[in-house]
Amino acid sequence: METIIRKIDKNKIDEDIMEQAGRILRDGGLVAFPTETVYGLGANALDEEAAKKTYEAKGRPSDNPLIVHIAELSYLSKITEEIPKKAIQLAEAFWPGPLTMIFKKTDAVPYGTTGGLDTVAVRMPDDAIARALILAGGGYVSAPSANTSGRPSPTSAKHVEEDMDGKIDMILDGGSVDIGVESTIVDMTVVPPMILRPGAVTKEMLESTIGEVQVDRAILDENSTQAPKAPGMKYRHYAPKAGLSIVQGKTEDEVKAIKQLAYALSKQGKTAGIIASAETVSEYTTGIVKNVGARSSQGSVAKNLYRVLREFDDEDVDYIYSESFATEGLMEAVMNRLEKAAGHQIIDAAQVSAKQKYRRIIFVSTTDNCRGPMAAELLRNQELSQEYVIESRGMVVLFPEPANQKAEAIMKSRQMSLCTHEAVQFSEKDLDDDTLVLTMEENQKWKIVTDYEFVKHVYTLGEFVEIEEEVLSSYGQPLTEYGKMFETLQKMIAKLAEKLNAAAENNV
Ligand code: AMP
Ligand code: MG
Repeated sequence: METIIRKIDKNKIDEDIMEQAGRILRDGGLVAFPTETVYGLGANALDEEAAKKTYEAKGRPSDNPLIVHIAELSYLSKITEEIPKKAIQLAEAFWPGPLTMIFKKTDAVPYGTTGGLDTVAVRMPDDAIARALILAGGGYVSAPSANTSGRPSPTSAKHVEEDMDGKIDMILDGGSVDIGVESTIVDMTVVPPMILRPGAVTKEMLESTIGEVQVDRAILDENSTQAPKAPGMKYRHYAPKAGLSIVQGKTEDEVKAIKQLAYALSKQGKTAGIIASAETVSEYTTGIVKNVGARSSQGSVAKNLYRVLREFDDEDVDYIYSESFATEGLMEAVMNRLEKAAGHQIIDAAQVSAKQKYRRIIFVSTTDNCRGPMAAELLRNQELSQEYVIESRGMVVLFPEPANQKAEAIMKSRQMSLCTHEAVQFSEKDLDDDTLVLTMEENQKWKIVTDYEFVKHVYTLGEFVEIEEEVLSSYGQPLTEYGKMFETLQKMIAKLAEKLNAAAENNV
């Protein structure tokens, strides 16, 4: 089948295109269209055969019922047996909008549409294209998300095309969606009404309109043995191809833990995918990192989530780690989708981050143009099982001097180089709980200990690696002395690497 793809402007809807799309629906065909939540795969909801085609195109199990979309409230009575007063109140408050309500169905709705259930899910979307299409198609359009079953829901026409090209009659391309996660589903056939799927209309919003609302336990409790009441919630939806775990804890611990996990993967020759926030994205150094949106803007995360999950399917990543987000408001729906994508695999960020003691190592010499930079470069050339920022500092640095020429000559003869080095003055910023400070001589250590308050991890290099020797300056001496100093450093740095790796192993 050739899929017709038409761009359509929601501010100036082309009537010919809409007429064509409506006719396809009335004739029992399939048309994908934008809504404010995600793209839907539309069919005539009152036509059993059309429902069958929908399941086929999506590869979706046919016990997973479809949501019927309407454009005007007056259409509700034909398909629902009883309309509780609270449903009218919710409709008045939130329709058109991202809210789906479950009612007892009438005979007008075929079981093919409801997956064999005696209830029907109904929503009135808030999108000009969606509403025009529903009316053009006869008033009742069943529409699950327009993705292949198990893939992330589509938030752009391009995503729909990826999954549905050649399988459906038409795609209406109305640009990117507004919200990005599917509607809130509320079962109105029970008292009090029950949320079956969280969405942009939150529990608080519902309760401020109709009073008490309960939440399906199966959503709240990942270990619940109860089957979720929305049949679709039991499937492993929204799953990216690579495995995914959510790393959960304080944001700073999440970043540390994900960095460690990504580095460990890279040591096995594998690539991590990382779902980061705008606030943290620049902190990652390994893996393929994607910014899912700002922690300060819930809407941006909701809007980007499925796109990011889809993008990872096109990347060569072996495993994906995601930061977690506070579950307030819309973010409850986002975390619900993310947890489903992860198959509820959650990693404790604090536990992982506790396994790495130091994240930065600073070598301190007097002028930071010879011994310190040499030590740093030697350590960078070691096999280290954890990731460290490795730097050097000087106690007396007047300007950003390059490395000493004799030091550079020695390094060159060993296939290393300090040519990009510039001396940096030691300062208070170089002392924190994650940083190991190693000085060349006793006197530098004592100067730091006496001048600064936070001196938890300051040692001489010799002391730390248990080779009781200072690394003295070779300044003004012949090249052979620089060579001897290099040998001493090399021995110490090899022991340092051994010690760091052993500590990493013991912490695992
Ligand atoms: P989607 O259209 O892909 O957003 O999925 C529709 C969701 O609505 C699925 O999770 C269905 O299980 C749920 N749903 C549709 N109709 C009913 C119903 N009658 N009772 C409970 N859940 C429903
Ligand atoms: Mg879906």
